Amino acid sequence: NNKAVATPTRTKEILETYGFSFKKSLGQNFLIDVNILKNIIEHAGIDHSVGAIEIGPGIGALTEQLAIHADRVAAFEIDQRLLPILEDTLSAYDNVHIINQDILEADVTSVIKNTFHEGQEIHVVANLPYYITTPILMKLLMDQLPIDSITVMIQKEVADRMAAEPNTKSYGSLSIAVQYYTEAHVSMNVPKTVFMPQPNVDSSVLHLKMRDQPPVEVVDENFFFEIARATFGQRRKTLMNNLARHFKGKMDKEEIRHRLQRVEIDPGRRGESLTMEEFARLANVFYSESI
Ligand code: SAM
Repeated sequence: NNKAVATPTRTKEILETYGFSFKKSLGQNFLIDVNILKNIIEHAGIDHSVGAIEIGPGIGALTEQLAIHADRVAAFEIDQRLLPILEDTLSAYDNVHIINQDILEADVTSVIKNTFHEGQEIHVVANLPYYITTPILMKLLMDQLPIDSITVMIQKEVADRMAAEPNTKSYGSLSIAVQYYTEAHVSMNVPKTVFMPQPNVDSSVLHLKMRDQPPVEVVDENFFFEIARATFGQRRKTLMNNLARHFKGKMDKEEIRHRLQRVEIDPGRRGESLTMEEFARLANVFYSESI
């Protein structure tokens, strides 16, 4: 069959042939538009020299394009019912390795070692299952994998939060966590009509370029993320109020005020106005003597 998987007719045909029914609980919304896929592949920086990791190949819409444009592809799919379908739709390609595993449980480092050449550029590309977008991305970021970038279709609102700048509505502790590890930007917004079935939410393609090293120096990463979360705890409240709540019973307001003064951050500000650099200063001055 020489027609791409990602067309409405071919997708329907495949689903009917195999009697496949979508599992909403697995976030199964398949892409049926080849142009969108080609755009994603371009934004991801895929060419014949690179390795690609996909999460959730479904019936192979994106996998097929990756097989055509990348050197090798490793794809993690949790739903066993899709394995015979993928074997069929990808039979023309010998550079795809399907792994029947929950990505959250997978040892991605080993798969990378076994699939790709040493020193090969590696890009993660996926139309993610929306119910676990954040856990998947945080796992990929925190595992310190030898990857160059991550390009994913996710819920628009989540993409906006991950790529948000200070003083915007979307800016929060998720922006800090993601931008500590990557340079994040939203590549494009995508209409619901390119999916089958159509999801209830709007989607965007988010591109994350891995940083060689963090943009700020923090004494303790976990504490830095904890302080960021605490600072955004109640968005409408001041830094002082959120910190007082966070350190209740451990540190009084006078001491908090004193430390804020030392790093020249006004206690009347709100978390959403603080840059990454200011969060780092904040975390470091509270870390040293707090615990
Ligand atoms: N890539 C296909 C496409 O674009 O048409 C399918 C994308 S669909 C949004 C998400 C895929 O992720 C489904 O195939 C689903 O079975 C799979 N999936 C869901 N949870 C998963 C998990 N924890 N680990 C690996 N794959 C998962």
